[in-house]
Amino acid sequence: MKLPDQFQENMKRLLGEAYAPFAASFDAGRRNALRVNRLKLTSEQFEAVSPFALEQVPWAQGGYYVDYRDYPGQHAFYRAGLYYLQEPSAMAPAQILPAAPGDRVLDLCAAPGGKATELGVRIGGEGLLVANEISSSRVRALKRNLELFGIRNAIVTNEPPHRLQERFLSFFDQVLVDAPCSGEGMFRKNPEAVATWSLEKVKECAAVQREILPLAADMLRPGGYLVYSTCTFEPEENELAIWHLLLRRPDMELVRIDCTQGRESFARAYSAGELAEKGYDLQGYPLPSGSPDLTCAVRIWPHRSGGEGHFIALLHRKETGIADCGLAQADRGKKKEIRKGRKEQGKRASAVSGSGSLSKTELQIFSQFMAEYAPDLSIDLRRCEIRDAHVYLMPEDKLNLSGLQFLRAGLFLGTFKKNRFEPSQELAMALPPAPDKERTPQTVPDGADAYEDDGRYLRFPADSDLLNAFLRGETLRLKEGGRNGWRLVCASRWPVGWGKLAAGVLKNHIPAGWRSGT
Ligand code: SAM
Repeated sequence: MKLPDQFQENMKRLLGEAYAPFAASFDAGRRNALRVNRLKLTSEQFEAVSPFALEQVPWAQGGYYVDYRDYPGQHAFYRAGLYYLQEPSAMAPAQILPAAPGDRVLDLCAAPGGKATELGVRIGGEGLLVANEISSSRVRALKRNLELFGIRNAIVTNEPPHRLQERFLSFFDQVLVDAPCSGEGMFRKNPEAVATWSLEKVKECAAVQREILPLAADMLRPGGYLVYSTCTFEPEENELAIWHLLLRRPDMELVRIDCTQGRESFARAYSAGELAEKGYDLQGYPLPSGSPDLTCAVRIWPHRSGGEGHFIALLHRKETGIADCGLAQADRGKKKEIRKGRKEQGKRASAVSGSGSLSKTELQIFSQFMAEYAPDLSIDLRRCEIRDAHVYLMPEDKLNLSGLQFLRAGLFLGTFKKNRFEPSQELAMALPPAPDKERTPQTVPDGADAYEDDGRYLRFPADSDLLNAFLRGETLRLKEGGRNGWRLVCASRWPVGWGKLAAGVLKNHIPAGWRSGT
């Protein structure tokens, strides 16, 4: 791989003697990985059903190295949202943010959703995830990936950071800023990034990062945590971006990232002194006294770890009374109170203008449907809203989104059509797996495939040709008809979409945009 001369110079200055193994890593193969959706199954369950050879990514819960020659992106389990294909180092930032169930979390630069999907897993069904993306073309993939993962309590917005900052001052418990950057860490993965790299690009990205970071800090509540990450090596976009923020925001402090428990191969970021020694331009950064301990942050180097280049810093917004910058007890205790207040607030607020409650008849039809097909999904009917015959499940923690561009304010559950309820693809993806009972597959006409129909779940083996035909959008003719009605079609136990059975013919209700090859 031919690297830009100026980039090579920069890396020699940064790495010194370690430059040789770093440069050699560009000729070595990179490793691919997937991250298990622990909302749908545990890592152990995935290991038991995985058709691919797996090797654990040491620093990522649910992260496994896989061989992409096994085509994990084309497997029915991918379509069932059981995993996300992700570069191994990119798994770290969302796992370093101490997000927990009940938290309000913001992913400010979220598309296509690699980190947002993990944040959705970490908060589970409780709390709120706001996944924002500035680019109107990239935001669609973000919405799709959150839906594929079955994340119910996510809102997807399409705004520049300053527009969110005006609305959500001190609002979030956790904020992730996976900033736009010069992408040096992805040179092996994406050779186009090499072609578009320049010193000007580094400077442009550094300017954007300095603009975004204080806005993100404004949206963090006192006591909350912020992760800043990039996939580039330049100190200008990493240590100095953080230092720049800390100089202007005395309420923010760095938290040391723990480099044990699988993170042993991470390298400490450079200290202020080291950067000065290496001759970086530190004009405007007061040295030696008053410099923050930048070594609290980490770098993932491709020659030291089984992953591409990344930088990660964890920051905390100070709160009077909390002296310790770790996960202070006082902070944890207070969270309970904060959540109680939010529930009360949520009951009063309305998130989508023009939406209303379901009528008595609609409520009856809808409850009947949910009782039959989604009995394991605890849906609070008071959180369901209807707009233009479309039913949405709103997050417990409602937001006023009026005036903001958003693609999703809650989970789209389905549509009323002449007093019938037609369930959505998004609902299918958010439903729990079929019960894990002994399967007794029946044989279909050509004998080549098997399925099991219990009148609610229609289960196919994950490698079934029939299932793949269904995923392409085909209508299926089943030998054993079964009662007429909706079927939740599953790859093994995990839903992939709805079909409607009538006289042995399964009509395909996977929307056009969700079918294979579309
Ligand atoms: N977090 C994502 C993931 O894990 O899938 C990747 C995010 S990518 C590194 C950075 C994102 O920042 C891009 O989607 C890009 O469109 C967005 N971006 C670009 N300029 C921006 C700006 N000025 N403010 C906020 N976001 C910006």
